[in-house]
Amino acid sequence: MIARRRAGSALVASLVLVAACALPVAAPPDGHDAADALHRDAIVIDTHSDTTPWFEDPTWRFDERHAEGHQDLPRMREGGLDVQFWSIYMGRTPGDGVAIKQAIARIDAVHQLVARHPGELALVTTAAGIRRAVAEGRIACLMGVEGGHIIENSLPALRTYHRLGVRYLTLTHSFPTDWADSSGTNEVPEPVHGGLTSFGEDVVREMNRLGMMVDVSHVSDETFADVLRVTRAPVLASHSSVRAVADHPRNLSDDMLRALAANRGVVMINFYSGYIDADLVAPIRSLFARLAPEIVALRERTEGRPLERSRAFRDLLAGQEIPRTRLSVLLDHFDHALRVAGPDHVGLGADWDGVASMPRDMEDVSRLPNLTRGLLARGHSEDTVRKVLGENLLRVMEEVEALAASH
Ligand SMILES: [Zn+2]
Repeated sequence: MIARRRAGSALVASLVLVAACALPVAAPPDGHDAADALHRDAIVIDTHSDTTPWFEDPTWRFDERHAEGHQDLPRMREGGLDVQFWSIYMGRTPGDGVAIKQAIARIDAVHQLVARHPGELALVTTAAGIRRAVAEGRIACLMGVEGGHIIENSLPALRTYHRLGVRYLTLTHSFPTDWADSSGTNEVPEPVHGGLTSFGEDVVREMNRLGMMVDVSHVSDETFADVLRVTRAPVLASHSSVRAVADHPRNLSDDMLRALAANRGVVMINFYSGYIDADLVAPIRSLFARLAPEIVALRERTEGRPLERSRAFRDLLAGQEIPRTRLSVLLDHFDHALRVAGPDHVGLGADWDGVASMPRDMEDVSRLPNLTRGLLARGHSEDTVRKVLGENLLRVMEEVEALAASH
């Protein structure tokens, strides 16, 4: 392998799309143990980051280390993160054209970010492109659109996002679209369609044809089942954990994990304390319920100004004591998913800067080597860990690309 250059070696929860509260700065890993060597050598991929709005802020520097939030270039390098799917998200949007306009601004901001850092970043759209960028020592940047509402019921919009480099679409965010039901974030909403409508099925087929991964995070259980019935390509759950460890509608049941494995898909484990720790689901939910009036007001005040909204969320949450779970709880989700779905069907989708509380010892992206240490310490083989860190997602991308090429 080519040596790589590495610097320095509900209502409410859709609203939790924020730069997170201030985080303690942790000591970097020593970099000398076998786990660290494996982590540095493996291709490490994360499929969900909501840091994206900050790319639109001219005062925010990607190449500076920040005391707040979860992600920036120095911390990505320190954490050995090689590949990030940046999320094109915006929550609910009113009226025709608004979501498409905001998505274009956000996609453009990712392109501009990469253009500003050509030595450090590469915009790529294929599995081979990821391997090439990483071999060159650059961080591979990809994009996923979070929420089917963002295509505004338009297959031409879907195809255009694909042309702009988007490589997955999350079929719903935390509310239904006109063609797919959502899991909600806390309470499961009343189903509107009972899963996918026939247009929703067309969206899935078109994504298969284009070579765009179908993301089933955030969708209702019925939508999940409909997707697996319709898709011909492996699917992705870009940022979801497991219900057997923490019973939350955003997580996947064991039946869903088995169905995902049968589909050759992959579940990318979400790190959010409010989803993964059974003891924290209720307290964090009630904390956000208490904040709901302020959040509603904030959303009204910042309608159509997504960056301003992100700033306001960051400020609101900075004053809150949001409980943090432990790294061991996060590892329980990986253990369970690996046991039920198998070693070929699990990966990482932390939800960086999209959630308000990461586990202790995983406070931000710089702490990722702790995940590799933890997985090895729990007895998972180096081969399995390498797959979890990135090879599983690469395999899914390759299969999705091969199917599209066969059309
Ligand atoms: Zn999400």
